[in-house]
Amino acid sequence: MRVLFVVSEAYPLVKTGGLGDVGGALPAALAGLGAEVRLLLPGYPEARARLAGAADEGSLGDLLGLGEARLLGGEMPGSGLRVWLVHFPPLYERPGGPYLDPAGREWADNHLRFALLARAGAHLAAAGGGFGFAPDVVHANDWQSGLLPAYLKLGGRTRPGSVFTVHNMQFPGLFAAEVLGAIGLPPESFAIDGVEFYGRISFLKAGLAYADRLTTVSPTYAEEIQRPAGGGGLAGLVAKRAGVLTGLVNGVDYRIWDPAKDRLIARRYGPRRLALKAENKRALQREMGLAPEPATPLVGLVSRLTEQKGVDLMLAALPRLLGLGCQLATLGSGEARFETELAAAAAAHPGRVAVHTAYDEALAHRIQAGADICLVPSRFEPCGLVQMYALRYGTVPVVHRTGGLADTVVEVGENGKGTGFLFETPTVEALVGAVARALACYRQARRWPSIQRRGMRQDFGWGRTAHKYMEIYRQLA
Ligand code: ADP
Repeated sequence: MRVLFVVSEAYPLVKTGGLGDVGGALPAALAGLGAEVRLLLPGYPEARARLAGAADEGSLGDLLGLGEARLLGGEMPGSGLRVWLVHFPPLYERPGGPYLDPAGREWADNHLRFALLARAGAHLAAAGGGFGFAPDVVHANDWQSGLLPAYLKLGGRTRPGSVFTVHNMQFPGLFAAEVLGAIGLPPESFAIDGVEFYGRISFLKAGLAYADRLTTVSPTYAEEIQRPAGGGGLAGLVAKRAGVLTGLVNGVDYRIWDPAKDRLIARRYGPRRLALKAENKRALQREMGLAPEPATPLVGLVSRLTEQKGVDLMLAALPRLLGLGCQLATLGSGEARFETELAAAAAAHPGRVAVHTAYDEALAHRIQAGADICLVPSRFEPCGLVQMYALRYGTVPVVHRTGGLADTVVEVGENGKGTGFLFETPTVEALVGAVARALACYRQARRWPSIQRRGMRQDFGWGRTAHKYMEIYRQLA
């Protein structure tokens, strides 16, 4: 099975969130099951710099009338997976993030940056495009590669089957109707059953409309996006295509997220050496300037700072959480208003609230290892990875029952089962109630470690999910 996996981020080459984790881990898991996988990404400077043994493999031609793009090949550090980068400096060679410029604005030419990625994918899909790898299946992800299924389907020639995975419906990839020609789509595709979305072009819709198979990242989210509350204006299209849609929970890359092997944390531990977790708590309190109190429950939050993630809920709940006797350690970056409010909270509660507004991969690991509770108050959450990382680190998740959170955390019940605490509605009241339930268990010296251990023994590895993707590929190929 030859799979061309096209994605806009893949850890450790480039990552802004969960998509990067998936882009790094799922292709490696597929390769582990015997698939021959090529990963295709834009040639961002940081990805080029991190790619092992990067070498020019030849010309992709002039795919969008902007000039010749070239294909760089190399290996993923860590997994050794074969990676291709679309090398086109006029669109990718610049400081800033994959989607945003250094000032935090979307790149004005994002339609071209990601049309080129998809176009390169379509070129390689057509009998390998002269690069000696003819894929059986092409797998595109989110709006950034949403045009790829459209190019394949509208291209008319024999083509490999396409899978399109929605990681987050909130980002429709919207652009002005006028760019249709520039991104190489025919006029007839600008229609209700094509890429048109309220007078504009949606790259996400292109993927949803034209891919042979659709997947999303949890069974509950697969249901949610068929209704307006979860799928917005595209819910109707998703519902229409429900017959080819599958919800598959993302996996955890335990090579990277395992407290027994993690070199980024103060002290390694596992379910049988759980007492050592306390050293990580002590180190985290010291590092983040929290009062060095071993018995005080420490709540961690690692998140993009956006409304989706319920950061405003957490902020509104803060006085009551502190009233319950918690400390809070947050790591996140995102919307300026949340960064400002978090900084103010830290200033108002020194030693009790610690805030680090940045993107810091290593600190994310240390919070997972050092906190007692991992709070995930997301309004909606397609899958969510942080709660699954928390489970492995013996950090008990408190989450809103939505999307993948509902599929991966089980309420601690009276019968001694369960791995975390869920709240049914995204309200301050419900959030505080769930944290209070968690704290009641935290104070029971024997019960808490048994909850932690049960979480640590859950297997959310990629194995099962990768098998299911392979099954979908087989049906297509
Ligand atoms: P999403 O993809 O919506 O952001 P997920 O829970 O699926 O949410 O994945 C989030 C990923 O990004 C996790 O790997 C988490 O550790 C990481 N992350 C989020 N914010 C930060 C941050 N400020 N610093 C480091 N890692 C972060």
